Amino acid sequence: QTPVGAEPDRARIDPAKPRFTGGSLAISELDMAYGDLNVLKKVSLEVKAGSVTCVIGPSGSGKSTLLRCLNRLVEPKAGNILLDGTTILTMKPETLRRRVGMVFQHFNLFPDHTALENVMLALVRIKHLPKREARRIAEASLADVGLASRKDHRPGRLSGGQQQRVAIARALAMEPEVILFDEVTSALDPELVKGVLDLMADLGRRGMTMVVVTHEMGFARKVADQVIFMDEGRVVETGSPSEIFDNPKSPRLKRFLAEVL
Ligand code: ADP
Ligand code: MG
Repeated sequence: QTPVGAEPDRARIDPAKPRFTGGSLAISELDMAYGDLNVLKKVSLEVKAGSVTCVIGPSGSGKSTLLRCLNRLVEPKAGNILLDGTTILTMKPETLRRRVGMVFQHFNLFPDHTALENVMLALVRIKHLPKREARRIAEASLADVGLASRKDHRPGRLSGGQQQRVAIARALAMEPEVILFDEVTSALDPELVKGVLDLMADLGRRGMTMVVVTHEMGFARKVADQVIFMDEGRVVETGSPSEIFDNPKSPRLKRFLAEVL
């Protein structure tokens, strides 16, 4: 995995699939609180265009809250977030959500709509595309995640892995510059996890900027350009996979790895 603009490892990129143009993020001194509870404390990190950042850390350390700040499902108390150099904090939420997509643990699909309709909805409602155009893009997006043949199925007739692919197709259809993934394989049966992780690795290789909160340490080691370790609302350590997993510096990261690996 190499950032856009650097020399890509072409052998690993499917030439039949288009490259994405990922955007960069610069997060500085982010504070966020739920009432009196300070959940993010001066969180800073840089995400290069076209790179994959994995965020690891114990439950309750603020990982989901960080992602929620990045597409303003919650508002930070202080600090700044730049997307390609422009602050997102004054952007219209609609504009922001076109540019920064999110995929959740529990898919969040509409159960009474087909896969195709689920992907089309945001295109019609947020991008205001005409239905015919939305359908064309949604079909292409479902084909891109390997679900062309399932487009008329409702979520209830799809496996968890397929539902998560629909959710990823829905994010991709918006042509975002960044996609945020919050423990997207945690609710899946074990045999379905690999397919979704392989799809995510593929998106990363194709140049999508991704911030991935995950418990899948194998994925983080293999796919991430940088790994962020969070604990108690702070970024405790940042580094390459080998720096984080083979040479952890802080006692907290060492303890965390001893528990999860
Ligand atoms: P993680 O994703 O790392 O498990 P979260 O960002 O979900 O951590 O949570 C960080 C802290 O914020 C935890 O102490 C959690 O209990 C608290 N928290 C999360 N969401 C809310 C909320 N909506 N209201 C109040 N507290 C919350
Ligand atoms: Mg979480």
